[in-house]
Amino acid sequence: MKSVKLCGHGVAAIAEVPEPTPQPHEVVIQTAISALCGSELHGYRNDGSAKGNSGHEAAGVVLRVGTAVTTLQPGQRVGVSAIAGCGVCGYCARGQSTWCTKRRFYGSMHAEQFVVAATACHVLPDEVDWKTGVLISGDGLGVPFHTSTKIIRPDTTTIAVFGAGPVGLGNVLLQAFLGKKVIAVDVSAPRLELAARLGAAATFNPNDTDVIAAIRDYTGGVGADLCIEAAGRPETALNCFAAVKTGGQVIFNGEQGAVNLSISEQFIRRDITATGSWFYHYAEFHDMLRLFRSGLPVASLITDVYSLDDVNTAFADFAAGKTGKAVISYG
Ligand SMILES: [Zn+2]
Ligand SMILES: [Zn+2]
Repeated sequence: MKSVKLCGHGVAAIAEVPEPTPQPHEVVIQTAISALCGSELHGYRNDGSAKGNSGHEAAGVVLRVGTAVTTLQPGQRVGVSAIAGCGVCGYCARGQSTWCTKRRFYGSMHAEQFVVAATACHVLPDEVDWKTGVLISGDGLGVPFHTSTKIIRPDTTTIAVFGAGPVGLGNVLLQAFLGKKVIAVDVSAPRLELAARLGAAATFNPNDTDVIAAIRDYTGGVGADLCIEAAGRPETALNCFAAVKTGGQVIFNGEQGAVNLSISEQFIRRDITATGSWFYHYAEFHDMLRLFRSGLPVASLITDVYSLDDVNTAFADFAAGKTGKAVISYG
């Protein structure tokens, strides 16, 4: 079967590999759609992937089940979570497999077939199309949804989202749908246009304007109730603290290393709460499904669909910031 190989230094190619076989608690999925994630770009730009590929957001049809699988059968449509827990600890019992100390990460989902733990699959109701399915079972909507559960104050109204890549845009779509006044910040004009289409009330580009001053102006001089860092850069992390109101909240979505923050200036003397938010909980799938059923236009996050044979173009466009969420369709 065909599988994507990230060759490194900006090249993605197709490799012919053996079809996967499931371990007792695993299933093999015939891929219908897989989504590109910003977290894959490091490997794409640098050394590539030694084995398999970094695809970890996908949906498809159950093809084969392991000998111990009783919950799924061939032919069922599923979306998958890339993270499977041990299945027996307290976190797993509550559907919080990302907190399981024995969690396992599944990848290589940019392929005609892939293998995953049966407990990481969500059966997709018939009315859930593949685009929606991959977003509500993976980090496409999962990260923005999980982030929404971290908002502490119920009166949070003005939300500034720093970074309008796929995760930032997901936050824009969801929070605007929930009635919040969303400000999107990014250096890319096309991505800011997309943010406006997805519901952002205001967009600011640091290349054109002093975004901190602009956010303060927009909020009557006080700052945003909440800032979400979705760019994964030290300067945007600092900008979140500069743009948030006293007593407000900062939530981190973008992965990064050390940032020079002052405990006194950025936290204590302004009563700021900062919160981390990673991936999503398996149990949150049903809340996302409910949002879709209540009208959240989930699939509007996907701007570009590529065939498997065009995977090199897909990665090039995605890495260049030309797309929102980009997907491969296995037609
Ligand atoms: Zn991802
Ligand atoms: Zn566990």
